[in-house]
Amino acid sequence: MTNEELLEQLKSKINHNTWEQWFTSAQILDIQEKKVIIGIGNLFVKDFIARKYGSLVSNTLSDILSRKITAEFTFIPADKSTKKKAGPLIKERPLKLSDFNPEYTFNSFVIGEANRVAYYSALEVANNPGKYNPLFIYGNVALGKTHLLHAIGNHLMERSPDLKVMYVTAEEFMNDLMKSLRDEKMDDFRERYRKKIDILLIDDVQFLIGKDMAQGELFHTFNTLFNLGKQIIICSDRTPEELATFHPRLISRFEMGLVVNVDEPDKKTKLKIAKKMAEMTSLYLTDDVVTYLVENIDNNLRRLRGLILNLFFHSKVTGEKVNIETVKKLYSSLKAHKKSIPQTKETLRVLKKNLILEAVIKEYNLTREQLFSPTRKKEISEARQILSFMLKNYGKMKVKDISEFMGKNHSTISQSVKKIEKELTGGNLLLKRRIDDIRRLFEEAEKIQTTENVS
Ligand code: ADP
Ligand code: MG
Repeated sequence: MTNEELLEQLKSKINHNTWEQWFTSAQILDIQEKKVIIGIGNLFVKDFIARKYGSLVSNTLSDILSRKITAEFTFIPADKSTKKKAGPLIKERPLKLSDFNPEYTFNSFVIGEANRVAYYSALEVANNPGKYNPLFIYGNVALGKTHLLHAIGNHLMERSPDLKVMYVTAEEFMNDLMKSLRDEKMDDFRERYRKKIDILLIDDVQFLIGKDMAQGELFHTFNTLFNLGKQIIICSDRTPEELATFHPRLISRFEMGLVVNVDEPDKKTKLKIAKKMAEMTSLYLTDDVVTYLVENIDNNLRRLRGLILNLFFHSKVTGEKVNIETVKKLYSSLKAHKKSIPQTKETLRVLKKNLILEAVIKEYNLTREQLFSPTRKKEISEARQILSFMLKNYGKMKVKDISEFMGKNHSTISQSVKKIEKELTGGNLLLKRRIDDIRRLFEEAEKIQTTENVS
């Protein structure tokens, strides 16, 4: 079946209005064994479709192709989406190691006093990789660190497409490491990070606090790349020195290059950022609206982006123009809704069990379906046992409720819990470390969720 034929079939099976509203720019880019890659011509629409229609599209494609398919959505910039209807778009660059967010460029980054130094050092490094090595960018959440990393990536891919640029969050690095250890594929892992890279971008390195093994591996990765003159760029929410529990040898590596800060932008810069974000969403906002937004985001640029995104959808769905009244209305309903979420203990409990579930899934690199499938594969049944154990001990759930939640019978759950307890008292350190990692994962997620909801 060709890409076009598949797209036609998909279209015929999806509600007509839904299709017209969201899928008109969709193109099938690649049909693989387990995945179908779909290009969407608008970044926001892409995110929205992935969230809202991801499983519908995956299921429909699975039906059509009679095998299990996961739909993957990717953004195709306007010029590419009109130039080429379909084709090997994503195969164009065989060396491509990471996808960079096409919206996060140097061009779309607004420069102000607070981020000028960080901006120019990032640009300098992108123009002359290896010159300032490493570059360490630190600053609070949502001040543009990830944006700058992607800007470096985009810039390099454009100027020097032959360079192998890898962007990885510290969390992904660690998951990759754990998986490679488990599958006994450490040689591949080391080859991937030490030999096959020209430039390494590591985001949110603070995630490795308390994760000694991953820090050790990062240290060796760092040394190898550094000694070969390859550029390393690191982002963190704190200075190298403040990564206090990091191994000193790693801290001193971070400190030996250029260390720059991104700080809170002043109001004028924030207004410019809001305008830029709206412009990139093809949303026209009047000055009073921009000012209102900036004054109501409690200094969080990510929230600003969220609001602009909501406005975009609101006007797309209702056809209403965005003006100060619609903005005020939308803002207060979002706020009221968020406040209403955490009020009951019940919702907090539901949140917690789902966060634990997500943390286990993440740690074991599984899908929800795999975890709950009846398989007896060692890896997966261990994940299920750990989930039971964690729901009981950290989620404070009763065995009866766990068995309902997981769709397994009562005795399976209590056996699982006992088994893990026995392993732990027997001194199974690997398992203990695993559980600690999962706990940290879900506690971090919990912190984010509850502060998001309360504010
Ligand atoms: P961080 O990684 O520091 O937590 P992000 O890079 O994710 O922050 O930034 C949050 C949002 O704010 C992103 O959408 C980003 O594009 C935007 N942003 C932050 N600073 C700027 C800036 N100076 N110019 C334009 N957009 C910005
Ligand atoms: Mg970030």
